[in-house]
Amino acid sequence: MVQIRKSNKLANICYEIRGPVLKEAVRMEEEGHRILKLNIGNPAPFGFEAPDEILVDVIRNLPTAQGYSESKGLYSARKAVMQKYQAMGIKSADVNYVWMGNGVSELIVMAMQGLLNDGDEILIPAPDYPLWTAAATLAGGYVRHYMCDEGSGWQPDIQDIKSKISNKTKAIVIINPNNPTGAVYEKGVLEAIINLAEEHNLLIFSDEIYDKILYDDAQHIPTATLTEGRAPCITFGGLSKVYRTAGFRSGWMVITGDRSGITDYIEGLDILSSMRLCANVPAQHAVQTALGGYQSINELIVPGGRFYEQRKVAWEALDSIPGVHCHKPEGALYLFPRLDPKMYKIKNDMDLVLQFLREEKVLIVQGTGFNWPTPDHVRFVFLPHIEELTPAMDRFAAFLGRLRKR
Ligand code: PLP
Repeated sequence: MVQIRKSNKLANICYEIRGPVLKEAVRMEEEGHRILKLNIGNPAPFGFEAPDEILVDVIRNLPTAQGYSESKGLYSARKAVMQKYQAMGIKSADVNYVWMGNGVSELIVMAMQGLLNDGDEILIPAPDYPLWTAAATLAGGYVRHYMCDEGSGWQPDIQDIKSKISNKTKAIVIINPNNPTGAVYEKGVLEAIINLAEEHNLLIFSDEIYDKILYDDAQHIPTATLTEGRAPCITFGGLSKVYRTAGFRSGWMVITGDRSGITDYIEGLDILSSMRLCANVPAQHAVQTALGGYQSINELIVPGGRFYEQRKVAWEALDSIPGVHCHKPEGALYLFPRLDPKMYKIKNDMDLVLQFLREEKVLIVQGTGFNWPTPDHVRFVFLPHIEELTPAMDRFAAFLGRLRKR
């Protein structure tokens, strides 16, 4: 019998958003149960449609999108990305330092592969979007998670960052607006991170895929606007969330600021980018129209808009459950409530979400799946219509009610 095991490189890699709990949900669906999936930030299945002009552009360009593009991406797409950042006042945004990818995901993997030698350290937030930790670990890096402080609206804890910098630290990752917490970072916090990065020779990665999904008075400050003329900054963005086309797999990364000290790393990125030939070409045709056109996202994030109203309903429902506290997200598509450990004695939060799934047929993700160290948080996606969201929250409240009595 041929026996093959996965490589040792994968020993510590996990991506629990699509992990064992999802497998159980799929098994239950095969048994005939209807599962409400609040586990993935994928707008399309919940009735969010891409703006028409994006679809038209992809369709019209299909006949000419059959060949590979340049490895870095179509010139028109890269130029549109360049202009997006230049319009923010980032003069150093340059078409030659933009890479298009099959979603931000592919670019995160490339950025980590190109950077980390075995044992090099990288600072990643806790909680995080777990692909960052998985990609850095797969590349051989050692992830030091810096804490974000729930008590101050999930802002990064600068003292904790400082305490985790060593002479092996090569880079720091910022996720802003944040998945899973919904935090949007204050200028002072970003400046403090940039100062530390300059002081300790760290490369800054700024994942800003939710940059236009902001609520109430939240102001998103792109990190690159603060690093101009200073440290190099690699910003990530894409079409998946803001333009509701996650299935198109289209994202970009752009390096701005002073690039003079990282030319060797940039060469590495070019090698990696050419090894995967190019990103999905039909979707690259959507980028110019998406970025330059009418920003229909702005209709969803204001009172009366679906993102805005669903967030409000879901947040109010969660925050009113005894022993549950939820920071009201200022951005993105998620809620990350805390279940008071005095009231809920949770030993294993994956077991908790499995139990919730089996009893109430709603799929969510455990907080430890986002590299949060203690089993006292879960993450909800608030993408369904209110008619579906409200009963899901009621079921969570009922489930926790039973848990309190057990
Ligand atoms: N970065 C963050 C913070 C995300 O939440 C996600 C997806 O949920 C991604 C990156 C990956 O997005 P993409 O669809 O562009 O690969």
